[in-house]
Amino acid sequence: MAITTTLFPGRYLQGVGAMKTVGKEALRFGDNALLIVDPYILKNVFSGVRPLVEKSVALHVEQFGGECSDEEIERLSEICKRNGCNVVIGMGGGKTLDTAKATAFSLRLPVVIVPTTASTDAPCSALAVIYTKEGQFKRYLPLPQNPNLVLVDTEVIANAPVRFLIAGMGDALSTYFEAESCHQKYAPNMSGNVGSFTAYALARLCFDTLMEYGPAAKIACETKVVTPALERIVEANTLLSGLGFESGGLAAAHALHNGLTVLEDTHEYYHGEKVAYGTLASLFLTDKPMHTIDRVYTFCEIVGLPTTLSGIGLSKVSDAELMKAAEAACAEGETIYNEPVPVSPEAAFNSLKAADAYGRQRKLMQH
Ligand SMILES: [Zn+2]
Repeated sequence: MAITTTLFPGRYLQGVGAMKTVGKEALRFGDNALLIVDPYILKNVFSGVRPLVEKSVALHVEQFGGECSDEEIERLSEICKRNGCNVVIGMGGGKTLDTAKATAFSLRLPVVIVPTTASTDAPCSALAVIYTKEGQFKRYLPLPQNPNLVLVDTEVIANAPVRFLIAGMGDALSTYFEAESCHQKYAPNMSGNVGSFTAYALARLCFDTLMEYGPAAKIACETKVVTPALERIVEANTLLSGLGFESGGLAAAHALHNGLTVLEDTHEYYHGEKVAYGTLASLFLTDKPMHTIDRVYTFCEIVGLPTTLSGIGLSKVSDAELMKAAEAACAEGETIYNEPVPVSPEAAFNSLKAADAYGRQRKLMQH
């Protein structure tokens, strides 16, 4: 029998006004905090709660430089040491949070993660994705522990651009399919052991939540109001998708995403938008039944996720370029080999093309 591992964040806190409690909550772990924060969030969101936070902990505020790179992590670690901080708080988007996790790890400090968008499944994970200074995928940095606390203020999410929430649904859309592939193949999750029943069940709940509440959550976010549907989708994008991918495992959708990032024209599109496209392609790669394929395309069309290559900036991509992405998706050690089907660069290329052709055909039929 295989050994299973399930990974959880230490605590998960979500709700309207949660950000007001970040100082009080961080004090569980340290009284002198380095806050790594997106410049926009610092100015427009954090300034309102800053006095309240500073009542609980000493705060050293540092703006995030824009890329989760080795250089940026080293810069922030130095600042942390110089100021004698004993807890790191990351506040902002996925790359800011990964940088906070990696910085905390380099100094063996506890970390509090405060996502200000629900755009990826990264917040809860014991993983940081390291990019080059230029924004190309470089490597995964596995961490020995998940964040001590993940704190999500739903009001902040509701006031963020809706494209973030949609991208988060794209990232969450991959979770069930990738976890299910790993389950079938006894492929390892992010811990190196196989996933638990808990993980596979949560991945399924993630998918069902998206299908049922995704469209209503999108409308709530467009209207900048918090509804129960929005709460559900924020939890699905952040907690369920995080537990699902990390404890369930990754497969083709994220490998295809990584492959697509070698094409420069995709760089202005969000992680979750490319993962959504990778998910659609993976449905063809893994020979899913047509009713499943149609259900996922319909969902993407309703919430506004890309269903064609032009939807991720590749309207003029040549076959030779697309083949480069397919080859990168099939690089040694990539999670595409967790699929229970034969995999090759040609098969990956064909699935990327098939997903595009089907997306375009459906668009034509709707007009
Ligand atoms: Zn992801």
